[in-house]
Amino acid sequence: MSAQSETPYPYDAPVSQALFDRASAVTPGGVNSPVRAFRAVGGTPRFMVSGKGAYLTDADGREYVDLVCSWGPMILGHSHPEVIAAVQEAVARGTSFGTPGAGEVALAEEMVARIEPLEQVRLVSSGTEATMSAIRLARGFTRRTKVIKFAGCYHGHVDSLLAAAGSGVATFALPDTPGVTGAQAGDTIVLPYNDLEAVQEAFHRHPGEIACVITEASPGNMGVVPPGPGFNQGLKNACRENGALYISDEVMTGFRTSRAGWFGVDGVVPDLMTFGKVMGGGFPAAAFGGRADVMAHLAPAGPVYQAGTLSGNPVATAAGLAQLRLLDDAAYDKVDSVSEQIRGLVTEALSKEGVAHQLQTASNMFSVFFTNRPVRNYEDARGQESFRFTAFFHSLLSHGVYLPPSSFESWFVSTAHDDRAIQKIADALPAAARAAAEATAA
Ligand code: PLP
Repeated sequence: MSAQSETPYPYDAPVSQALFDRASAVTPGGVNSPVRAFRAVGGTPRFMVSGKGAYLTDADGREYVDLVCSWGPMILGHSHPEVIAAVQEAVARGTSFGTPGAGEVALAEEMVARIEPLEQVRLVSSGTEATMSAIRLARGFTRRTKVIKFAGCYHGHVDSLLAAAGSGVATFALPDTPGVTGAQAGDTIVLPYNDLEAVQEAFHRHPGEIACVITEASPGNMGVVPPGPGFNQGLKNACRENGALYISDEVMTGFRTSRAGWFGVDGVVPDLMTFGKVMGGGFPAAAFGGRADVMAHLAPAGPVYQAGTLSGNPVATAAGLAQLRLLDDAAYDKVDSVSEQIRGLVTEALSKEGVAHQLQTASNMFSVFFTNRPVRNYEDARGQESFRFTAFFHSLLSHGVYLPPSSFESWFVSTAHDDRAIQKIADALPAAARAAAEATAA
C-alpha cells in the first residue's frame, strides 16, 4: 500500500512516492531525519537526485529553486566546482586514517582566525555531538550539574536538551520525547526565550548549581526569532556573575550570518561555541571550542573525556576548508543581497493578498510567520496560523520552489541564487500568496 495513498496536493511525484514507499518499509517513517518526511505539510517528500548551484532535481526529473540549502550548509550552492575538486583530491588520498592529519589543523586554524574569542576547537562529526560535548565540558569545568536552555531552541537530539526543543520537535509538537529519562531532563531548566528576568530568577533559585546557559546564537529552529537588544549580552553577564559558562550554539549561524557567524554580528563573547553545517561544506563535520583554559579540561589535555572515530575526517575537513576559504566579504555581500531580494518579494506578494504575516530576519537567515504580531519566543511562534504555511508551501513546491517543509524552520539562500532563480521565485509567489490567503484551518 502507498505510504500516502490519496494525495490532495496539486502535483504528484510518482518516482519519489515509489521511493518513499520502499523507504517506509525499511526505515521508520521512510526518512533518516523526521522533518524530511513532510508530515507537517503533508504530501510526498521529494527524493532529490542531484544539486547544482541554486537548484535541486528530484527523482521525477523536476527542478526546484532550493531555499533549504541542506538546512544551511550549502552556502555556496550545490556542487561548487572548487569544493568538489577539494573533495576529489582528498578522496584520492584516502578516506579515513584514524590519525591526526594536516587538513584538520588547517580547518581549525581557519575557524580560530575568523572568530576572535575562539582560541581552540575540537572537531566532531555532527552538531548534536558538538553541543553534547560542550555541555559535558561545561559541567566538568564548573563541577555543576544544571543547564539552562530556552524553549524553541534546538541543539540537536542530545537527551538533556530535548526539552521544549524547536525544529523537528516543534514541527511534531512533542513537548518531550519518550526515551529521555527524568534524570536526564531533570537537570535542564527550560526558560522562555528573550526573557532575561526568567534567567536572573533561575540563577537566584539555584545558587552554585548552574553549569551553563546554552542558547542558539540567533534562533532559527522555531522559525527565525532573533535575540532582542541586549539579550545575549545579558546572558553573558548573568553567567559571569554566577560562575556559569555561556555557550553560544552557532551550528546554524556559524560562518553563515557573517564571516565570524553571529559573533560577527553582535560581538558578545561566549565561553564556548558550537559549530556544524557551513564548516563541513556538506559533509559531516562539526566542532566546539572557545576559551583555551576551558578547552584544556578536555582529554587528552585534561580529564573530561570526548572522542570520535571519524572526527576530523580528511574528506570532510577538505570540503569544509575549501568552502570557508571561498567565503570572503564578497560572498557574504552576495548572500545578504539574495536574502534581501527574496524577502522583499515574499512581503510584497503576501501584502498584496492581505495575508497577515511577519517576515523575521537575522542577517541573511529569514522565515515567515503567518501572524499579525511579532514573534519573540516559542509561544508566539506556536500561535501562528500554520495552515496558511501548508498552502503556501505546496503552491511554491508545485511551481518549482523548495521551502523547508515546516513553518518552524529558517529559509537558507546561497551565493549561487542567480537572477533566474530569483525570477522563478517571483513568478511563483503570487499564486502561493493567494493560496495562503484562501487557506482555511482543517
Ligand atoms: N544546534 C543547532 C542550532 C542546530 O540548528 C542543529 C541542527 O539543525 C544542531 C545543533 C544539531 O546539528 P546536527 O543536526 O548536525 O546534529
